[in-house]
Amino acid sequence: MTQREPAQLPVTRLTGIGSQTAARLQKLGIHTLQDLLFHLPQRYQDRTRVSAIASLAPGMTALVCGQVEYVDTPQRGRNSVICRIGDASGLLSLRFFHFSVQQIQQLKPGTQLSCFGDLRMGFNGLEMVHPEYRILHAGDDPTETSLTPVYPLTEGLAQSTLRKAVTQALELCFSDTGALKDWLPAAIRQQYDYPTLTEALLTLHSPPPTLSAESLANGKLPALKRLAFEEFLTHHLALLLGKQHYKTWQAPALTLNDAAKQRFLAELPFRLTAAQQRVIAEIEADCGQTHPMLRLVQGDVGSGKTLVAALAALAALNSGFQVALMAPTELLAEQHFRNFSQWFAHTGLPVFFLSGQIKGKARAGTLEAMANGSAGLVIGTHALFQDSVNFHKLGLVIIDEQHRFGVQQRLALRAKGQTEGKVPHQLVMTATPIPRTLAMLQYSDLDISVIDELPPGRTPVTTSVIPSERRAEVIARISLWAGQKRQAYWVCTLIEESEQLQCEAAENTARYLQETLPGVRIGLVHGRMKAADKDAVMQAFKQGECDLLVATTVIEVGVDVPNAGLMIIENPERLGLSQLHQLRGRVGRGSLESYCLLLYQAPLSESGRQRLGILRESNDGFVIAEKDLELRGPGEIIGNRQTGQIPFKIADLNRDRELLEHVQAAAQLICRDHPETVQPLLRRWTGGSLQNPDDLFHTVYSP
Ligand code: ADP
Ligand code: MG
Repeated sequence: MTQREPAQLPVTRLTGIGSQTAARLQKLGIHTLQDLLFHLPQRYQDRTRVSAIASLAPGMTALVCGQVEYVDTPQRGRNSVICRIGDASGLLSLRFFHFSVQQIQQLKPGTQLSCFGDLRMGFNGLEMVHPEYRILHAGDDPTETSLTPVYPLTEGLAQSTLRKAVTQALELCFSDTGALKDWLPAAIRQQYDYPTLTEALLTLHSPPPTLSAESLANGKLPALKRLAFEEFLTHHLALLLGKQHYKTWQAPALTLNDAAKQRFLAELPFRLTAAQQRVIAEIEADCGQTHPMLRLVQGDVGSGKTLVAALAALAALNSGFQVALMAPTELLAEQHFRNFSQWFAHTGLPVFFLSGQIKGKARAGTLEAMANGSAGLVIGTHALFQDSVNFHKLGLVIIDEQHRFGVQQRLALRAKGQTEGKVPHQLVMTATPIPRTLAMLQYSDLDISVIDELPPGRTPVTTSVIPSERRAEVIARISLWAGQKRQAYWVCTLIEESEQLQCEAAENTARYLQETLPGVRIGLVHGRMKAADKDAVMQAFKQGECDLLVATTVIEVGVDVPNAGLMIIENPERLGLSQLHQLRGRVGRGSLESYCLLLYQAPLSESGRQRLGILRESNDGFVIAEKDLELRGPGEIIGNRQTGQIPFKIADLNRDRELLEHVQAAAQLICRDHPETVQPLLRRWTGGSLQNPDDLFHTVYSP
């Protein structure tokens, strides 16, 4: 560890900050002087000039000076004190609800006061309620030279305490030029016309009166942008360097023997697409190294990612290492289990399954086989990576539909499965394309491969947007559809996060549809059913023993039934575009025509109309993701992805989104020309260091 910068000193170094105040500051995440300086005002007050009473109007906030004319103490029916003051231009009432006798005694007629507060219309004209006031003595100047910051507070902490502390911290750090060093290279600062760190912090904590309230409130101040940019940049660097660091570890080289590969492919009823072949080659090249692969495979729904994963698994098994494949839901894990069992049948290698639902003897048996290495290929849910689980020789970890897991979960897996100083290769798959600008904050710890092609013979899904008044028509269509021996999904969504309500809604819908469509065989699947029951229903649907599957959004990811070509989604206006695209990806998996009906609840808001329109116009997940970003903003998207909100100190994904465009180039410049600034930047913004990247990730991501 390098020597502590003065800015890293604890706040208790400041006069007036005892242990009690320090504890309150801690609640705001403030421990050091630097934390204090990065705790920015939420707004400002203008006390740089005195307003004439005659110029005031309700709704204004102003600094006023005047002489006390008289004080009116509480009488019948009124419990407040009114103090009338006057200046050369007029009179103003000050109203106090809380007051002490001593306070009233001080307000003798003739006393000069300066008051700051909000103005409103009272019974007797304009009044200021509970102003901050001060008694003025001859020669006192009540004005301040800069705007007054108003900081976010916590219980028991006074605005004045925080202001005094910040003023001291600014003095301490800036009296000594090395105290709060500017680590952002001058080249970057000049390129974007950013102020230095000192200038930026001074501007934000004590803005000159020449700065307009508008420019301070609109979030566009270069001083603010500079800090936000530095924070985004550092976050990106943290992920980037985490990747570089992880890659210095040892991993077993996995090679895919050509004969085994040809044999495997020969068993498939189709040929790989060119995109699949390219991505498989990229994975093979990575896994052949003695350093770990960290690769993300992005591919639209139905692009055939599972098979790519299967070939990676084959390489590991071929080389004598274990493989763990983790899926976000029980349903999807089971589907993978069945697919892999089929694909690997000719190899004679057994496929194992582990989830929270597997209990007792079966569980103990699987755990034992994983620990002694006799289980080569294990598929399951996150149960695979609980503490009680041990692998013998784990060579490859595959994570499907990664967007359903948090970034933290993904990173936690890196430490897991280390054997003899070697770490497993990692393959991460997602069908939710993430726009380039956001990928930089979420996936720059991974190399990215894209499957940009669907298997041949797929007919694009035709999407219609239909108001729920035409529900009867839609229901009639199901009966015709089932008559043609084709299957359909009916997806129930609810805005309430309550799973129970969602499941009840699905149950009611299934009952209603069954009454209305007695000739149609209807199945129901939702998150509250027992795994075995769910499984039975899904199996029946897959085998065509049921025509219509009523479901909650549990079927969102990965479920594959090619004969199902019609999907009705209720209340689609309540879901994000990417989620809708995922849902819709359940149909259009065969070569037959398929349809998606978005049954919305009228009236539709303007943005709702736009969003559903995008879905109707496009079948391309990447296009949809970009539009989704445009419409909802990055904050919303990253939040909804359940990737664990990234806790930025100053940057705001929505307000500062335009900065994201420039982060990558700046990071390259830093790595090339100023690598020495990386560690200090990381320390400044994350408190972590590269000595221990796991700690670093932990600090970056834990709220
Ligand atoms: P996703 O990328 O959404 O995970 P899947 O891996 O579930 O997609 O594949 C979707 C369907 O396409 C599966 O039925 C799979 O067997 C099939 N499939 C995969 N690759 C090909 C291919 N090259 N040609 C034809 N069908 C394929
Ligand atoms: Mg999939």
